[in-house]
Amino acid sequence: MIKFHIVTLGCSKNTADSEYVANFLQNAGLKWTDKPNEADLLMLNTCGFINDAKEQSLNTLFTLAEYKEKNKAQKLLVYGCLVKRYEEQLKADIPEIDYFFKFFDDKSLSLLLKELTVSKAPKKNCADFSAITKRFFTPPHIGLLKIAEGCDNWCSYCAIPKIRGSFRSLPEEEILRTAENLAKTGSKELSVIAQDTTAYGKDTDTSLEELLSKISQIDGIEWIRLHYLHPKRLTPDFIDRVFSIKKVLPYFDIPLQHIDDTVLNKMNRHTDSNQIKQLISHIRTNYQNSVIRSTFIVGFPGETDKRFERLLTFLEEYPIDRLGAFVFSPEEGTRGAEMTPKVSKRKAAERLDKLMTFQQLILGETAEKWVGRELELMADAVENGKILARTVYDAYEVDNQTILEDTGNIKPGDIFKGVITEAGLYDFKARPLK
Ligand code: SF4
Repeated sequence: MIKFHIVTLGCSKNTADSEYVANFLQNAGLKWTDKPNEADLLMLNTCGFINDAKEQSLNTLFTLAEYKEKNKAQKLLVYGCLVKRYEEQLKADIPEIDYFFKFFDDKSLSLLLKELTVSKAPKKNCADFSAITKRFFTPPHIGLLKIAEGCDNWCSYCAIPKIRGSFRSLPEEEILRTAENLAKTGSKELSVIAQDTTAYGKDTDTSLEELLSKISQIDGIEWIRLHYLHPKRLTPDFIDRVFSIKKVLPYFDIPLQHIDDTVLNKMNRHTDSNQIKQLISHIRTNYQNSVIRSTFIVGFPGETDKRFERLLTFLEEYPIDRLGAFVFSPEEGTRGAEMTPKVSKRKAAERLDKLMTFQQLILGETAEKWVGRELELMADAVENGKILARTVYDAYEVDNQTILEDTGNIKPGDIFKGVITEAGLYDFKARPLK
């Protein structure tokens, strides 16, 4: 029996793709192994989003190629964004790679099966292989549900529309079938993902609201967490319709990237500071028990000291509960890479540092407000005899962890009520309520 192992890098969209590939191969009769040195087929799902991610993908490829040095019978397969962007270069530089695939679908996976089974066509229909029944990359109680592919927003710093193509909503029946499968095999929380989740349905006759209403009726699904909500479509009406759907969590994951109008305009974000401020005010007024997560980019061309200071002032006036920030990375083939005036690397790094320190000060001032609150939590894992859990306001492997003081009978996958007993900047402690 052919054994395979997949290393998946990059964002949760990649993880969802790898989950699909692993399930497909397993359903077709291949066997997963946790040990890369024992695999007949080593696979790497790459990320080519920004320079750091490319470097990580290349370093991992070199490590996997070393396994192959020791075991010449092993096959090395690489797929994902890096292949789409740099296939020829990879072919020239890393001769150890046996197979290149850009993005997998049932057809290309069947082709791979043919190759692996010495050119015999797989006996079953590939539709039989595509059910997700096992989680290889997340605990079973969490399911990644991809609802669309590609992006049409053309943010000037981002290569994704070139890499992944234009936006395509996945067929509703296919998404519902996956969601049902995930529920049947233990998922209580669904992370709904796409490059731009709010765009779902713009190319079909359905809508995000309709889709989520149907998903919320699936037995077993308790939490629906939406990710990557582009602010441009988040009108108050859209928010109210979507976030009033049963089981959709009060978790607003809205990548804002900046607040200065000139920078937003140069980034081609199709939004401005007024709309962003109104959006946050609407959430704060109407969803008092909620959190906002966001990401910001510093050092984008044209970001002067004054424009950067505007971002800090904004964060003081409109605090963001969960925040990630990055230094602008000039990506080949994007308009942003050509823009001027450039911000020096040193200045951008200083701004990143300043922004994160500023955010820590804000979090430090507000952390205490969590203590004593009774919240819904989900247990994720047991580590050193302690339960690692998350509040309803925290996404798996993205946001804060909560450690339980007293584990009782709680086990991974359980949803329970608890009271926060300690709140640090990024982690909490809690006591389950009987
Ligand atoms: S919304 Fe912008 S940043 Fe996100 S994938 Fe699309 S183009 Fe890239």
